[in-house]
Amino acid sequence: MRRKIAAGNWKMNGTSAALTELEALRALLPPDAPEVVICPPAPLLFRATETAGPIAIGAQDCHMQDAGAFTGDISAAMVADTGASYVIVGHSERRSAHEESNANVRDKAEAAWAAGLTAILCIGEALEDREADNTLDIIGGQLSGSLPDGVSATNTVIAYEPIWAIGTGKVPTLDQIIEVHDFIRARLITRFGQDIGDAIPLLYGGSVKPENAATIFRADNVDGALVGGASLKAADFAPIITALAKS
Ligand code: PEP
Repeated sequence: MRRKIAAGNWKMNGTSAALTELEALRALLPPDAPEVVICPPAPLLFRATETAGPIAIGAQDCHMQDAGAFTGDISAAMVADTGASYVIVGHSERRSAHEESNANVRDKAEAAWAAGLTAILCIGEALEDREADNTLDIIGGQLSGSLPDGVSATNTVIAYEPIWAIGTGKVPTLDQIIEVHDFIRARLITRFGQDIGDAIPLLYGGSVKPENAATIFRADNVDGALVGGASLKAADFAPIITALAKS
């Protein structure tokens, strides 16, 4: 059985007052909760790890270098030093707003591993790729370009996030989600072998809400979700976690 993971990406939302949501989420976790990860803004990482209890904490990005003249950036070792255990790499907002290439994302994943972090590596097609029927080509290219060779069943989680579904309220059909997740699984098995390829958790991300989570989790190769907006409030994220626990 693969690990199930519900990960929340708070993006650039929340000051220290938002830590009460983390406490509230702890109280709402079902007894059989899957792995839950919250990725708050970097300034909250230290305090988040102190209040998270069973909830794992992750950063939203890290630099690929260990240290140096990179004003405003944080290294993977700095993330690990806060007590965090995950880091998102290659989120589409980083790929577009910060022009991160597949090679950058690959280097960041390797930096994350070197610091002992699990990388949540994001891939996903733009609307024009979907409309031109290029989704699987794009996903295949991102997988081969941004996933390093040293992948293991524990150091990497892959999040499939169609860019057009992020923050838009638009969600692919279940068949579309199944098609892409099955494709990713097959690619992982071809490249890394049955054992590793089958064990890497695959998350779906893009407008996951309490209302649609159970349907999305019906897909065999969906092992959880990466959730933006609906992870900000414990009352919204908790039912998604419960739906995953029941799936
Ligand atoms: C995300 O940013 O990773 C995301 C999936 O956002 P939302 O759930 O708000 O669409």
